[in-house]
Amino acid sequence: MRQSAIDAMLPFFAERFANPSGSHRFARDARRAIDESRDVVAGLIGVQPGEVVFLGCGTEADNQVIRGVDGVAVCPATEHHAVLHPVEARGGRVVGVDATGHVDLDRLAAALDNDVAVVSVMSVNNEVGTITDLAAVAAVVRAHAPQAILHTDAVQAASWIDLRHLAPLVDALSLSAHKFGGPKGVGILTIRDGRSLSPMLIGGGQERERRSGTHNVAGIVAMAMALAETDTRRDAEIERLARLRNRLVDEIAGALDDVVETVPRDRKIAGSAHVCIDGIESESLLYLLDEAEVCASAASACASGAMEPSHVLSAMGVDRRRAGGALRMSLGHTTTPADVDRGIEVVVDSVRRLRKAATTVA
Ligand code: PLP
Repeated sequence: MRQSAIDAMLPFFAERFANPSGSHRFARDARRAIDESRDVVAGLIGVQPGEVVFLGCGTEADNQVIRGVDGVAVCPATEHHAVLHPVEARGGRVVGVDATGHVDLDRLAAALDNDVAVVSVMSVNNEVGTITDLAAVAAVVRAHAPQAILHTDAVQAASWIDLRHLAPLVDALSLSAHKFGGPKGVGILTIRDGRSLSPMLIGGGQERERRSGTHNVAGIVAMAMALAETDTRRDAEIERLARLRNRLVDEIAGALDDVVETVPRDRKIAGSAHVCIDGIESESLLYLLDEAEVCASAASACASGAMEPSHVLSAMGVDRRRAGGALRMSLGHTTTPADVDRGIEVVVDSVRRLRKAATTVA
């Protein structure tokens, strides 16, 4: 977490602990903190405060928009499971992608008709880092299913893309605080005025009946602080981290044969380094990296533990053997040049050891 976000939330565990739904002075204080946070995030996203719904996480935001409408749901095959699974559970339409993981616009158009109620296309892929051309997606959706709610899962976008450029293109947008230096367990769904969703949680009527449940005041305040800091530092961080990411990948690929970058750099975010390494199994590599205290993953963190080929790489047409050597390294606001030096050294050494062991066994 960003230190400013930790500092911002602490008073709400202590002297400002009240439930904002109450009517006494302490409750009013907590409510004011939520109202101020709503104004801040609305400004940073480029929507009206009344269009912001605070909720529990990115998964909830995604589920709410897909399960909150009647009619057919459509999404690309590379979505996070928080979108893909609810779309599949509703018998929705899953659309193919190209080799970079970008939704195929012709196939998207072919999946759209008058029955479609929601189309969900992620802004940035969590596994391989591909940035969606959301303006092109929006043009297709508005032309072929103007009645549909267009939603983007922008959970991975906040650190890399000015949200004020994304929000005007869509009707609904999901965010999760822990992806931009805020706490886990709090998120945002924006929903354009005039578009309505049937709420998943009903009860106390919080968030103008759109999401019942006592507010996570500390989490909301910290999320607003983290988003503000992310927004201020975004351009400088992109420049700094692109340089570090390029060095990380270039030096690994320079020291080892048969390391292929999965998505071209001009199509992806600066914080993502995703490669497929021939002649090794991701699982064994991750074990060696972990022993050396280098933290990385193969597929998405949510799915690790199950070493099935990632649904993202499969949809992109990466063959099973190459996908078996996938390595996903992420950089963020805490990443230093020394971390990258260490990452290069440990990845190169570990791959050499695994390849040597494989030839010895063969
Ligand atoms: N969508 C994307 C693209 C994600 O990367 C994630 C989490 O990794 C989620 C949704 C789920 O968010 P949360 O962990 O807040 O439920």
